[in-house]
Amino acid sequence: MKTAIYPGSFDPVTLGHLDIIKRASGLFDKLIIGILVNPNKIPLFSLEERISMLREVTREIPNIEITSFEGLLVDYCRMNQIDGIIRGVRGAMDFDYELPMAQINQSLFPKTQTVFLAASPEYSYISSSGVKELASFGGDYTGMVPEEVAVRMKEKDTK
Ligand code: ADP
Repeated sequence: MKTAIYPGSFDPVTLGHLDIIKRASGLFDKLIIGILVNPNKIPLFSLEERISMLREVTREIPNIEITSFEGLLVDYCRMNQIDGIIRGVRGAMDFDYELPMAQINQSLFPKTQTVFLAASPEYSYISSSGVKELASFGGDYTGMVPEEVAVRMKEKDTK
């Protein structure tokens, strides 16, 4: 059985993330969505809220597991026998950031391979930080996140 992890902060999950999740879940027997807990960053949504939103938006995809982790991704991969790390690439900036990370991970733990998926053009402009910034100025982000997330964003009073 081949297992991959899709790591990220998912604060909140966007349509771009969901597109990558759907495509990656077809490539592996199991896809773990790993929410990276960064103690130095204050998220908009708590870990529990992010997990529950991810559960809602992936409820129709059977081979998904949602978890959180702290520390080095390769340590998680080693301990859980992960075959692939999924990363989405929106453009050159993502690639410049992702390539050395993939190379470091490769040298630390060569058993896990990083798999880059090209962002779909219709979603490649979307980022969680962009959605939050738009929300803070009262802009319309409804076409950028799943409906369930838009509802939670409105409840949060992001202004
Ligand atoms: P962000 O980079 O938006 O803050 P994350 O840290 O949660 O989000 O990103 C996790 C992974 O998802 C990264 O590999 C990132 O490049 C990818 N990703 C984020 N947004 C998109 C998108 N719109 N399309 C494709 N991949 C994306």
